[in-house]
Amino acid sequence: MDLGIKDRVAVVAASSRGLGQAVARGLAKEGAKLALCARASAPMDAAAEEIRRETGAEVMTRALDVTDYDAVRGFVAAVVERFGRLDICVANAGGPPAKSFAETTMEDWRAAADLNLMSTVYFAKEALPVMQRQQWGRFIAITSVAVKQPVEGLILSNAVRSAVSGLIKTLANEYGRYGVLVNNVCPGYTATARLVELSHRLAEKEGVDAAEIEARWARQTALGRVGRPEEFADLVVFLASERATYITGASIAVDGGLVKGLY
Ligand code: NAD
Repeated sequence: MDLGIKDRVAVVAASSRGLGQAVARGLAKEGAKLALCARASAPMDAAAEEIRRETGAEVMTRALDVTDYDAVRGFVAAVVERFGRLDICVANAGGPPAKSFAETTMEDWRAAADLNLMSTVYFAKEALPVMQRQQWGRFIAITSVAVKQPVEGLILSNAVRSAVSGLIKTLANEYGRYGVLVNNVCPGYTATARLVELSHRLAEKEGVDAAEIEARWARQTALGRVGRPEEFADLVVFLASERATYITGASIAVDGGLVKGLY
């Protein structure tokens, strides 16, 4: 299937590793031009170089914190200046810390809202008007299965990401008439550095092995295993493509059957 992504210009946020990097690589393999960002420039540049070498894609990078609106605004403006357009924007960030409600502070709540909700607002605020002018665009947020089924011990993520779902659904309604499709992709347990960190933190807390935590996660899925970042990226790449023309306002899980509800 030709996805029709060749020469489309894609911003992928928080893409020096993990799901963001897998999405960037997937888009590059389909011929997209990339603009990547993450907090630290060294891992960002290393990831960009690897993608260039593998795919020959044109890749620009910028070190920025997605919680800094001025930085996001400057980045999106630089992308449009360099490439003359912006077709695809994947909003992504790190995840908030694993805590119970009793352990959280007010500062934790504000930080989680900045990291996962406001960063998505910043990218939407800058990218959607460009897509509206072009009468074509794909805006995709990376959230979590937490928006469908809260994850134990991750109250900050469970609460804040549901706000992102509401944002995405509303943006889909506002921008559909301009040919801009807005969706939410919700990873389940996927083998990235974040998942490894999370398994070690929980293992320490419970006094068990990290492998035991990972096996527990795998058992919760219908497929009996955690996912690979490329399996997640494949859906994002499809939603970003010319082939996905009638899917908008959706929250789609890529979770190996982790969520037990019907929808
Ligand atoms: P990761 O920690 O492996 O990678 C996160 C990336 O975000 C890195 O490139 C990091 O540099 C960048 N980043 C973090 N904070 C940033 C900031 N403030 N500004 C700019 N860049 C920043 O995480 P991941 O596993 O790839 O997960 C991506 C998102 O998906 C996270 O929000 C995570 O919570 C969520 N998620 C992941 C899983 C999973 O199993 N991996 C499951 C559900 C949800």
